[in-house]
Amino acid sequence: MSYSKKFMVKPGEKIHLDKIDPAYTDQHESHEKALTKIQEHVGRMDKLQYLLYADGDQSLLVVLQALDAAGKDGVIRHLFSGMNPQGTSVFGFKQPSKEEAAHDFLWRAHQRTPSKGEIVIFNRSHYEDVLVVRVHKLAKKSIWSKRYDLINDFEKMLSSNGTRILKFFLHISPEEQLERFKQRLDDPARNWKITDADYSERELWPKYIAAYEDALEKTSTQHAPWYIIPANHKWFRNLAISEIIADTLDEMGLKLPPTHVDMEAIRNKYHIAEQKQAGKGNDPLNKNSKS
Ligand code: AMP
Ligand code: MG
Repeated sequence: MSYSKKFMVKPGEKIHLDKIDPAYTDQHESHEKALTKIQEHVGRMDKLQYLLYADGDQSLLVVLQALDAAGKDGVIRHLFSGMNPQGTSVFGFKQPSKEEAAHDFLWRAHQRTPSKGEIVIFNRSHYEDVLVVRVHKLAKKSIWSKRYDLINDFEKMLSSNGTRILKFFLHISPEEQLERFKQRLDDPARNWKITDADYSERELWPKYIAAYEDALEKTSTQHAPWYIIPANHKWFRNLAISEIIADTLDEMGLKLPPTHVDMEAIRNKYHIAEQKQAGKGNDPLNKNSKS
């Protein structure tokens, strides 16, 4: 079964994250054995991104959400590294600026959605407005509880305008998170990544899980599905996400646009090597040229 099918949250499905194994690795025994597949998927992603850009008619929005240290940055570094920066961008959602907070919660997300031909990755997203905002009571329940429908409408609108949307929840265990925090404490090169807030947020784990379960249940739709990715093993996380993205791009029916020029005429006029050498070409910049 493809990972698209396996990890997709079906519209209306009830989610119990504690019943989903974050350490799942399918039949793959090790990183080494999965590496060839990851490289194959990443290679397909790179080729298809070129085609998406050339085709210029559709776009892809990838949403990454997770608890701290689950690997959002790692996914971006490993899977999108080979793509042409022209046509790909990443936007990280932080605490809203004064200007952002003065607008509706979808305003800043909408400004960053991909234009035709582009891939945009949201590192956190408009979902923070039903996650951190709910957990920390930054808005009243009467406000955030209306946002699921608003998000579904927003994503439906993007989708009818040619944007494919893939939403990934990186699922790790609390033990794995603690281990990753410890690595950040122990490794001087990674000290900068750890803050007190990481530990205080961790205490709110059950509240975040409840908020995530609600979001996953209420906003996984045909046009913008959620995928729950087992993420305790970084390599398996990368394998599953790269397969889902490559398969999705594959399904989009991307094609090179038709040419608007007479190739044969141009080739004859400027590019026949023998003509150039004989000084018979028509390139005005070629000193040997007749014209
Ligand atoms: P990081 O991803 O580690 O750079 O942290 C970004 C921080 O911004 C996280 O703690 C998010 O929860 C927070 N954040 C993102 N969006 C919002 C939002 N809409 N309201 C409040 N906090 C947010
Ligand atoms: Mg953080």
